[in-house]
Amino acid sequence: MIRERSDWCISRQRRWGLPIPVFYCDDCGKPVCTGESIEAVATLFEAEGSNAWFEKSAEEILPQGFRCPHCGGTHFSKETDTLDGWFDSGSTHYAAMKRDQGFWPSDMYMEGGDQYRGWFQSSLLTAVGALGQGAPYRECLTHGWTVDGEGKAMHKSLGNGVDPADIIKEFGGDMIRLWAGSADYHVDVRCSKEIFKQLSQSYLKFRNTARYCLGNLDGFDPNELVSPAEMLPLDRWAVTKLNELIGKVAAAYDNYEFHVVSHAINDFCVVELSSFYLDIIKDRLYCEERSSLARRSAQTALFLILDSMTKMFAPILAFTCDEIWLAMPHRREDDARNVVLNTMNKPFADYALSESEMKRWDELIALRSDVNGVLETARASKRIGKPLEAAVTLHARTAEARELVEHVSDMGLEDLLIVSQCLIREDGDSGTDAAATGAGVAVPGLDITVREAPGVKCPRCWRHSTFAQEGTGLCPRCAEVVAKLG
Ligand SMILES: [Zn+2]
Ligand SMILES: [Zn+2]
Repeated sequence: MIRERSDWCISRQRRWGLPIPVFYCDDCGKPVCTGESIEAVATLFEAEGSNAWFEKSAEEILPQGFRCPHCGGTHFSKETDTLDGWFDSGSTHYAAMKRDQGFWPSDMYMEGGDQYRGWFQSSLLTAVGALGQGAPYRECLTHGWTVDGEGKAMHKSLGNGVDPADIIKEFGGDMIRLWAGSADYHVDVRCSKEIFKQLSQSYLKFRNTARYCLGNLDGFDPNELVSPAEMLPLDRWAVTKLNELIGKVAAAYDNYEFHVVSHAINDFCVVELSSFYLDIIKDRLYCEERSSLARRSAQTALFLILDSMTKMFAPILAFTCDEIWLAMPHRREDDARNVVLNTMNKPFADYALSESEMKRWDELIALRSDVNGVLETARASKRIGKPLEAAVTLHARTAEARELVEHVSDMGLEDLLIVSQCLIREDGDSGTDAAATGAGVAVPGLDITVREAPGVKCPRCWRHSTFAQEGTGLCPRCAEVVAKLG
């Protein structure tokens, strides 16, 4: 765009733009622009504004007795061209930054995408020409326009305009911020009531996730985190996933890809947390002894997750994150007054699982999705209610499936599948009395059988146990915890 620009007129024959304060001598025709003439124009503009140029004659503007410096003539006419508007705005970096505020260049120029041939360019050209130190900005950021839900421009006359004040009244100020932080602003940004209704769903997902964490961090002291060596593998899996999120969010902020931040945090809440991790650790959080390692290990992961997410989302969900911050426990080194007084967390490398361990978790997640499918069938046929009422049998028909099942067999499958019993049978399963049977999709060659779990339902944790305590019906784990409660 610059290379193809062969010349550039700084004056134009237009009525908008600033007057060019040059006179012409009627006798010799030469331009007249002296300290005295400039001073006269400046005094006039100060008193009456720059429009006075067009309203007054040359004689009225110039001091009495003014003579042409070239020939001594006394009759003058005015320049009628105006200063090009782009030259005018393109030179603001000098007046507004360098001269008035003493810094140059700026970190960023931000405008609509049409300014590559406008302001960005005229600023660049005037800076290079006048100062010879490169562009007056370190970088440029452009955005599209705000359009309605169908992609049409908003017009008062069409009645398709969305007033931010109405949105704030109905959804709250953070929703406007989430909208701005969720849209890819490089292209035109759509705005409609429908979009806000969808956004409020992802807002609630984040808010509810934070509430879950807050509720389970009650009484937890984050100055006493469980060490990486002590932490349970599932919790380390969650922190490893958090580390990935932290990396993704940091890169997205660096590139001003705010919508990537919002979507990554939302996906983390939906996929990793809500439908997997938080579901599984409920039992540990609710049923294990209050100060047990199993419980504190999960709390440590929850703290790291909430602390990180709140700091990362604060630039977008300013109010909500501050609200969370004020309600959550903090480490000594954190500033408890406000979330934005703290820097975002770096990944917690000490807690990260190795790549091969993470691969094992991927296998477990594949297995779990297949088991969940069969559990769903069993529930649909009303043969079992909650998954905890189920006993699952796994049988691998192929070498690949067998390898995978063996690989994950010692991970604590009952807990991870949230069932009361999980058996691995080398010899297959007849399927007699089954509530549902199914073949693996994510794990081909795997047969899954779901039956009603044997034993007694523990009134405390709802797991079925064949070793229930006489009288109370408590499972051995709960019997032990309850006994310690005294
Ligand atoms: Zn003259
Ligand atoms: Zn129990």
